[in-house]
Amino acid sequence: MEPVEESLRELGVHMHMQTTVEGFLGEGTVNAVATSNGDLPADVVVVATHKTPNTELATAAGIKTGSTGGIVVDDGMATSAKNVWAAGDCVEIPHGLTKVPINGLSGSHAYSQGKTAGVNAGGGERAYQAVQVPWGMVAGTWTIGGVSFGETLATALGIPHIVGMADGISKARYYPGWSRIRVKLLVDPKTRTLVGGQMVGVEGIKERADFLAMAMRASIPIDDIAWMENVYSPPIGALNEPMALAAQNALGKL
Ligand SMILES: Cc1cc2nc3c(=O)[nH]c(=O)nc-3n(C[C@H](O)[C@H](O)[C@H](O)COP(=O)(O)OP(=O)(O)OC[C@H]3O[C@@H](n4cnc5c(N)ncnc54)[C@H](O)[C@@H]3O)c2cc1C
Repeated sequence: MEPVEESLRELGVHMHMQTTVEGFLGEGTVNAVATSNGDLPADVVVVATHKTPNTELATAAGIKTGSTGGIVVDDGMATSAKNVWAAGDCVEIPHGLTKVPINGLSGSHAYSQGKTAGVNAGGGERAYQAVQVPWGMVAGTWTIGGVSFGETLATALGIPHIVGMADGISKARYYPGWSRIRVKLLVDPKTRTLVGGQMVGVEGIKERADFLAMAMRASIPIDDIAWMENVYSPPIGALNEPMALAAQNALGKL
């Protein structure tokens, strides 16, 4: 998060860490936010929080919901009611690593779940798999992304892991316009497979997050990622793939 914080500050964003929101002030419209560190004047307030599944209709119809509040579906997206399928933000899906049901995934998950539900509702046979949750977003002048768990959540869940880290570059270092990529991989020391990964860079973060999600789905050992093949083509790819360097760093610790 350090490079992201630094870049947001350079862009003129003031961050108030370790600060609790205590209320919104103003009559009719908000003009300030009350916090544990005093009032902050505001023209507009944006609240970013988690989604909760809207399952009112399903619950009223007696359809089973699970521990997240989302609709329980089997791997064909069928609900507990015969001939009723569900997909998207309203359902819960097992996490690929812990198999614990999770809810509030992305539009890309919703779309492919919908296709699975549609095929099965139409008499076909398609299974939807547990999710590794690749993600990515622009953050200041950087792009960040990753897959599955970070160190905080992996530690909280009691998942044993070691961390492999590496700094790489997006294209040949003698080619104009290259940018840095930092990769962190969390590896289960026993199975030698990924627990998660996070990256900060400019180019190619989305593709790497997608790759890591597939590596997790296929349980590819860190040994194979360390010595993976990669495209070295000066304007588009560096000699050393940053994910492979991070995997080699993890191997050193194993
Ligand atoms: C601000 C924001 C940004 C996002 N950005 C991204 C992104 O960049 N990438 C990404 O992959 N995902 C993103 N998402 C998540 C993505 O939008 C959702 O995961 C996706 O839209 C879920 O699709 P859905 O069809 O399950 O639900 P929805 O898109 O919410 O559709 C549900 C529909 O059902 C309707 N409805 C509800 N109840 C009833 C009823 N009783 N009768 C009839 N209709 C009803 C609703 O009005 C709605 O139109 C974002 C979400 C938000 C809120």
